[in-house]
Amino acid sequence: MGKVLAVVNQKGGVGKTTTAINLSAALALEGLKVLLVDCDPQANSSGGFGVSRDDDRQSTYDLLIGEASIEELALPTEIETLRLVPSHKNLIGANVELIQIDRRAYKLREAIDKVRSQYDFVILDCPPALDLLTLNALVAADRLLVPMQAEYFALEGISELMHTLDRVRGTFNSTLEIEGVLLTMYDDRTNLAQQVTENLREFFKDKLLKTTIPRNVRLAEAPSYGKPVLLYDPRSRGSESYRDLAAELLARNHIESPKAKERKKDA
Ligand code: ADP
Ligand code: MG
Repeated sequence: MGKVLAVVNQKGGVGKTTTAINLSAALALEGLKVLLVDCDPQANSSGGFGVSRDDDRQSTYDLLIGEASIEELALPTEIETLRLVPSHKNLIGANVELIQIDRRAYKLREAIDKVRSQYDFVILDCPPALDLLTLNALVAADRLLVPMQAEYFALEGISELMHTLDRVRGTFNSTLEIEGVLLTMYDDRTNLAQQVTENLREFFKDKLLKTTIPRNVRLAEAPSYGKPVLLYDPRSRGSESYRDLAAELLARNHIESPKAKERKKDA
């Protein structure tokens, strides 16, 4: 059964989309079947695969209002085992339209449940808000992946998310857990980063992932070519760090990828 992982932080610009795209790519390049669902009206995950938010096509919006299924929506990508449910600028309207719909927080979960068995991972890229779109992702998810920057106020920013997590657990999704907190745009040479990391480790304990994502210009360039960095520049530090992230998550969950099995056979 596929694991559903929501990439979430209500703050914008912390690396959610970059992580959703490149973690999806890294897992799929390991031979795992991955579905990336773009839940953000800004549609940056879609753009990162060359799909425009202005295109006249069905999207996560149609999924949430029950007008289309994931089977109908999922687009192929350059990576054979990775498919994408694109977003569209009209997804912003779903926040309002869903209010009138029954079980409005469960729409994404219901859609994903129908295809879960066909994937190893379903990755949800969330908008920078704790709105009804993010709520749908939190209700659909098994685990949360929280990218954040090592800033002085990092923990304060995260308390609202922790509060929301508690509420979602109490009302909609009692088994929701944090998979990991991921430091992005990380520069371990600064004292500040080291100090903040220590504080975060005290707070999150083993949920703070060992992998950190460095600031790397290749990561920022790749979307304008419509490619994950792992295809745009596979040897960059950015690529390396997202491969490390995929490996860490697989090891934590005791999952051996098809590629890892092949490597073992060849050795
Ligand atoms: P979010 O989805 O949380 O808003 P993004 O992933 O879109 O954040 O990242 C915000 C901006 O920072 C984007 O322009 C992205 O290309 C850039 N960026 C993200 N991670 C890195 C990184 N590790 N190194 C350099 N630039 C990055
Ligand atoms: Mg984003």
